[in-house]
Amino acid sequence: MTSPTDVRGAKPAVSLRRLVRRYGALTALDGLDLEVPRGAFFALVGRNGAGKTTTFRIVAGLSEADEGTVRILGHVLDSGAGRTAVRARIGLVPDFCPLFEPLTVRENALCLGRFRGLGPRTAGERLEELAGALGAEGTLDRVVTGLSRGQRKQAALIVAMLHAPEMLLLDEPFSGLDPISARSIRALLEELRRRGVTVFMTSHTLPLVERVATHVAILEAGRLLETGTLGEMLGDASCLEERVVSALGAGRPLPELAWYAP
Ligand code: ATP
Repeated sequence: MTSPTDVRGAKPAVSLRRLVRRYGALTALDGLDLEVPRGAFFALVGRNGAGKTTTFRIVAGLSEADEGTVRILGHVLDSGAGRTAVRARIGLVPDFCPLFEPLTVRENALCLGRFRGLGPRTAGERLEELAGALGAEGTLDRVVTGLSRGQRKQAALIVAMLHAPEMLLLDEPFSGLDPISARSIRALLEELRRRGVTVFMTSHTLPLVERVATHVAILEAGRLLETGTLGEMLGDASCLEERVVSALGAGRPLPELAWYAP
């Protein structure tokens, strides 16, 4: 499979070289090489335990690799200065809720907006506009503790976008969302893609990935199995799910379960 071409002809937004990450005796990333072109909507897919979240956390600066090089938006992520420079230019929605639980969504947004140099009026206006796009107006003045999983995900995405970051990092952006919210988020992300925002996400929701991604990478056992543009990855397959399942090998046959006879 070809390596992904840079959709803007610039240096890659993310470049990972020979990444190794160990958890005790377990090697979660085993020499991973990966490039995310600028302006791409890049989806990292693969089996449970393949190393997607580990990769995501390293790209997001939430965790460090034991070996290898991480370059994000031109900065090497091995120095404090590199991390600080990158942090202001990315929006992050990890697999946990990154908001302060005892505050409302609006209070979270105003705090983070201030941290990112946005005045309360600008942050408030952007918040209302984004919440309107996602149908999340009703949650803005509720404390995070009382929000459902999907509501938290929406709120985290809204807050992550307030400073108009040039790259969004999204861990499982569609999990836990109802079909209407998933559709709204998809439409919002498609609009951002048209504006040249780079999106790097992990996902198991392959039908949605197929609708929004420009590039896909399949991870297997901490290594890159395949990567390419969506068209290259699809090839002759009828859908991305078929393609990914065939790349990873078919599922196991069901056991007899003769004892399970309620
Ligand atoms: P999933 O699709 O299930 O979310 P994933 O591809 O995101 O999986 P990771 O969470 O990156 O996989 O995990 C990769 C491997 O590292 C797995 O074998 C996992 O058990 C292991 N692992 C991840 N985090 C830790 C940890 N904190 N301590 C020990 N092992 C870990």
